[in-house]
Amino acid sequence: MTSPTASASTPASASISASASDAASGTAPASVPADVAGSRAASAFAAAAAAGPAHESDPLPEGLIDVVVIGGGAAGLNGALMLARSRRSVVVIDSGDPRNAPADGIHGLLGNEGTPPAEFLARGREEVRHYGGVIISGAVAEARPAGRSADGDLRFTVDLVDGRRLAARRVLVATGLRDELPAVPGLAEHWGHGVVHCPYCHGWEVRDQAIGVIATRPASFHQVLMFRQLSDDIIVFVADGVEVDQASRERCAALGVRIVETGLEEVVGDGAGGISGVRLVGGEVVPRSVLVVATVMGPRLDGVDGLSLATEEVPGGMGEKISSGMAGATEVPGVWVAGNATDPGAQVGAAAAGGALAGAHINGMLVVADADRAVAAAREHAAA
Ligand SMILES: Cc1cc2nc3c(=O)[nH]c(=O)nc-3n(C[C@H](O)[C@H](O)[C@H](O)COP(=O)(O)OP(=O)(O)OC[C@H]3O[C@@H](n4cnc5c(N)ncnc54)[C@H](O)[C@@H]3O)c2cc1C
Repeated sequence: MTSPTASASTPASASISASASDAASGTAPASVPADVAGSRAASAFAAAAAAGPAHESDPLPEGLIDVVVIGGGAAGLNGALMLARSRRSVVVIDSGDPRNAPADGIHGLLGNEGTPPAEFLARGREEVRHYGGVIISGAVAEARPAGRSADGDLRFTVDLVDGRRLAARRVLVATGLRDELPAVPGLAEHWGHGVVHCPYCHGWEVRDQAIGVIATRPASFHQVLMFRQLSDDIIVFVADGVEVDQASRERCAALGVRIVETGLEEVVGDGAGGISGVRLVGGEVVPRSVLVVATVMGPRLDGVDGLSLATEEVPGGMGEKISSGMAGATEVPGVWVAGNATDPGAQVGAAAAGGALAGAHINGMLVVADADRAVAAAREHAAA
């Protein structure tokens, strides 16, 4: 699993506290230990890598391949589909831990409404295989540039956690992102069910319920409006240090949204796997069946840091992403990025579209490289 569970280790006395990244951006208090995010990422990655095959794995091909895709979520698989259909040799390496794994179904995706994420991805893997793409269940430990071939083409080396190695001409990074939750005791275990973040992913499912929005940054008040569209019963719990501006107070008052500025002690379970409310500092329990949070998002860089990809901040204290240009091209020659790793706001459809675009662009660049090599070889032959 990714980050959600990590904040469960926060002391029970914590009031609402946001992430270290939020603190750095000045929007919320720094009550999460500085090492939490890093150690969380490392331990989640190690756990996933040690967990064994997440899905069926093909044999690793020998010799040079055209493209290695790191990450087999919607973005990586759609990139691989485009490449495989272009008769490119493509290998997808996937550790089987997609961001939406806790969700029961995918929503807002035409033609796939309610499909369980695992089923959607299993279908995608078969589609890639149908055109000759190779799917490896495993984790990349290190990907790095390996110079150029004698005829000037780019080369990359990709080492898997299990010790196997691949050589590729191009790389598509589609590793997704990690969500860092506010460090409220009891919150993480409900992630993706009673604790949600996205009105388009789960909004319909929580309509008309008693919803609490945990406001860890000023932008959380936009989330309040989004969920107020779905339920008349909204309460905002404001984190220490978050300023509520006059416009937000007026909007909340006009829409019948109560603002609570007492610290949160913990999320209270209902004994059946759901949420029954939140306990405020001082002991009062406010009944709520759903909590909305804004996560801090960061690209998953485990195994791809050797590519030295540039990252940039996402405005509003939302986190970071890998920088990219047209069709996911990065500043590192031969490396593309797609999906949540570079587009944190992308839902499944947009992530898949980003992957498709990157796959098409990679093939477009490879056909030119192949043609140029053919011309060089033809000239050499003619001159001999
Ligand atoms: C709780 C929740 C519910 C959601 N519900 C919806 C919804 O209903 N509808 C919707 O459209 N969107 C939903 N989303 C958003 C959705 O999860 C993302 O849009 C989507 O997962 C992005 O796809 P991706 O391919 O970029 O990344 P991911 O799906 O996260 O895939 C990345 C893959 O890369 C792998 N990986 C990472 N590092 C490595 C490595 N080093 N080596 C090998 N593999 C690696 C991971 O294991 C993972 O399988 C939800 C998100 C959350 C958190």
